[in-house]
Amino acid sequence: MTDPTRVLVLNSGSSSVKYQLLDMRDGSRLATGLVERIGEQTSRFRHTGADGGGTREQDGPIADHEAALKAVAEELARDGVGLDSPELAAIGHRVVHGGLFFTEPTVIDEAVLTEIERLIPVAPLHNPANLTGIRTARALRPDLPQVAVFDTAFHTTMPEAAARYAIDPRIADRHRIRRYGFHGTSHAYVSRETARLLGKDPSEVNVIVLHLGNGASASAVQKGRCVDTSMGLTPLEGLVMGTRSGDLDPAVIFHLARVGKMSMDEIDTLLNKRSGLFGLCGDNDMREIRRRIDEGDEEAALAFDIYIHRLRKYIGAYYAVLGRVDAVAFTAGVGENAAAVREAALSGLDGLGLAVDGERNAVRGDAPRLISPEGARVAVAVVPTDEELEIATQTYALVGKTAGNTQR
Ligand code: AMP
Repeated sequence: MTDPTRVLVLNSGSSSVKYQLLDMRDGSRLATGLVERIGEQTSRFRHTGADGGGTREQDGPIADHEAALKAVAEELARDGVGLDSPELAAIGHRVVHGGLFFTEPTVIDEAVLTEIERLIPVAPLHNPANLTGIRTARALRPDLPQVAVFDTAFHTTMPEAAARYAIDPRIADRHRIRRYGFHGTSHAYVSRETARLLGKDPSEVNVIVLHLGNGASASAVQKGRCVDTSMGLTPLEGLVMGTRSGDLDPAVIFHLARVGKMSMDEIDTLLNKRSGLFGLCGDNDMREIRRRIDEGDEEAALAFDIYIHRLRKYIGAYYAVLGRVDAVAFTAGVGENAAAVREAALSGLDGLGLAVDGERNAVRGDAPRLISPEGARVAVAVVPTDEELEIATQTYALVGKTAGNTQR
């Protein structure tokens, strides 16, 4: 029998499961899908098979993650790529918080699960859902190697000066408070792909990666290693996002509690779910915001300006952190698609060697591409992210390496 070459990537959220089945010989997608609103009456399941497989949709209650994964397994089986296939090499799980303990992708065993569980206090929204996904998948295929790929892992190389908050270290350590950073899988992938676009090895280049999706974060990557990133203890810190405020004076929270008489849960919801672009103008989709700006909407214009102002501050900050910058890379939904954001983010920064060529910036496409003018001192690039491929690649590499210990 030939070696198994397929990896199933699972991203389990609190009420959703996203998945992709990849063939690691060429990175092609054999199936992708999403189960949403798990636990509600109005659950929705959309599955797309490999070419010709088409998209199948199901509406109706899916009680829990176990039922969701069983439904996924059935759909994969219908396409002839079921979980019992001998060609399945491993399952790779996205795990949001790996703390300081997990610096690399890790083959999951009971001890690993216990450690992910210990991190729940610093990732109360994400790690429980990730654990449920892992446990359910392990019950379905107990014999198959399963790998945890952590959003925080790429950032564990940050120096203490960047990772620590300026608070009493004894209190910080007791509560494991530090800047962990997130979107690490994307920052790792995009910084590497940017180096490749420049025809260089990652160890030769310094890159500022701007991951601008509904969640957004920036990172400073020096010779392939992350030295700073904008998200902190949680994904709330840093850039203005779709619904998150990003940076603010922590005293805003005391003020809202003491003067505004809001509860901690209300403030948490306000800052995570009702702030950012959405809080500023009622829309978190950059397409809609640009459309409103074109119609002369001042609220949308101010939201855009605040978003861009913060982004420019981080670009400047990471320029200083890195000292020398070889490339700035835009990625994720906004970064890959919104030419107006890219142009506004770098306009007037010629003094730093940063510029965007109007014509190149207007070109759309799925491939990594340069948008800086010919001969620019700093390359500016659009590099589509692919977190699932990165998770699958890391999973496959690890399983290949450890096949002897895990597949016995
Ligand atoms: P992500 O979280 O990476 O999936 O990004 C989602 C966000 O990308 C959406 O909320 C939109 O604001 C943004 N987006 C997607 N397509 C476009 C587009 N064509 N132009 C501007 N923004 C876009």
